[in-house]
Amino acid sequence: MTDISTLLSKVPTGLLIGGQWRDSSDGTTVDVDNPATGEHLATLASATSEDAVAALDAACAVQESWARTAPRTRSEILRKAFELVHERAEDFATLMTLEMGKPLAEARGEVTYGAEYLRWFAEETVRHYGHHTEVPEGTLRMTTRHKPVGPCLLITPWNFPLAMATRKVAPAIAAGCTMVLKPAKLTPLTAQYFAQTMADAGLPDGVLNVVTSQSASSVSEPLMADPRLRKVSFTGSTPVGRTLLKAAADNVLRTSMELGGNAPVIVFADADLDVAVEGAMAAKMRNGGEACTAGNRILVEESVAAEFTEKFVARMEGLVTGDGLEDNTDLGPMIEAKAVDNLESLVADAVNLGARAAVGGQRLDGPGNFFAPTVLVDVPTEARVFREEIFGPIAPIFTFRTEEEAVALGNDTEYGLASYVFTQDPARMYRLADGLEFGLMGYNSGVISNAAAPFGGVKQSGLGREGGAEGIAEYSTVQYIGQRDPYAGR
Ligand code: NAD
Repeated sequence: MTDISTLLSKVPTGLLIGGQWRDSSDGTTVDVDNPATGEHLATLASATSEDAVAALDAACAVQESWARTAPRTRSEILRKAFELVHERAEDFATLMTLEMGKPLAEARGEVTYGAEYLRWFAEETVRHYGHHTEVPEGTLRMTTRHKPVGPCLLITPWNFPLAMATRKVAPAIAAGCTMVLKPAKLTPLTAQYFAQTMADAGLPDGVLNVVTSQSASSVSEPLMADPRLRKVSFTGSTPVGRTLLKAAADNVLRTSMELGGNAPVIVFADADLDVAVEGAMAAKMRNGGEACTAGNRILVEESVAAEFTEKFVARMEGLVTGDGLEDNTDLGPMIEAKAVDNLESLVADAVNLGARAAVGGQRLDGPGNFFAPTVLVDVPTEARVFREEIFGPIAPIFTFRTEEEAVALGNDTEYGLASYVFTQDPARMYRLADGLEFGLMGYNSGVISNAAAPFGGVKQSGLGREGGAEGIAEYSTVQYIGQRDPYAGR
């Protein structure tokens, strides 16, 4: 068992600017608390606008030398960081459980998943090919090459404190960009420790700067108005994403937007129901339901709805809720008290419209922000749970009769991030892939995130892809060199 005070003493509390951990320019701070107990964990420096600009100054100062650093060197720093994150895995996992609440087993899973972005992009760094050809007329030799976009602002959410950072930092390093990272103020400890780990892996000063802040806009507004910034990569809610897209327009910034989701989990009568139940559990309950990929709407073909619901309810009833540091905990606390209030109001709204809680449906005694694993049945599609991101352990079950109805229900949302389909008919799987307007589709699987896969949404779920070969392209710009044909005129 990790000693908590020793662990917390390893986490830097300052702002990381140009390789130095410093205090905030006006002395303001951010308090970080444990959502399972309400206990205070740490006090960090809170960046002002002036600090944010100082962080961008530091990033700009080394952009040119970093861009010229050999790909092999950048690759080896990422590889070393991958190894260090694994050596410090228990520290990272415990920090995430302490500040975010997820059970330790899930936090360990996030360390593995988050570290994979470091390994994947270490490999991509040295294989970021351009191409060479002739234009069709034969008058020019055409060479394309990748250049780093330039200094980036990276803004991450609280729900995956390590993986959302590595998914941006690793491809930015691979492409040769420098960056200012602004972690969520609710869970900055993991990002602080990660930044120290990157420095320990040999990342030069100024390439990665970290500015946690009480006020996110105090950081984002001056940086996005600064013509030296070239890109903003954001993971978070759709309303904040829209605000940032508007701000990005003024300087025509490159943007990557990983926004909200409202994933359907579609279970056909021809599915292996045990696989579907386990898949729906994983899709819904990973991270306590606090995930953009969470299976928000479980759509089950009418003829198997009773059997599916019985099995699913039994699994949800068996979950143990508690402090994520306890060995047997399946479901930790919600991130904040207001998240529990929102879950309560979502259930009340559905019940008012005729739904019934087959299990759960209420908040649990504190201290801490706990909500019971909940299954809602007989839910009308007018209910808020059909439209809004639930972001908690509530699983509403809806039914359908035909494949066309399933696709129409699945698509009946402004979001388009993840979707999940359970069927044993591969032809149906392809029809669903054609019909569903989502960037990601799980086929007989409730967990599909992977560093090698392009992750991202369509519609109001965002722009761009993270991970895969596509991930490095988000931080690169393509330069084309047209060379006069050397034999022209001979
Ligand atoms: P959020 O939008 O409230 O905050 C995300 C980040 O943006 C935080 O760092 C926050 O401090 C910052 N922020 C908030 N207001 C800002 C502003 N005006 N200007 C600049 N930055 C600002 O989201 P959250 O509650 O931290 O995270 C949950 C949301 O993130 C959900 O909607 C979830 O679906 C989404 N999410 C998406 C993905 C994805 O990959 N698509 C992954 C995880 C979470």
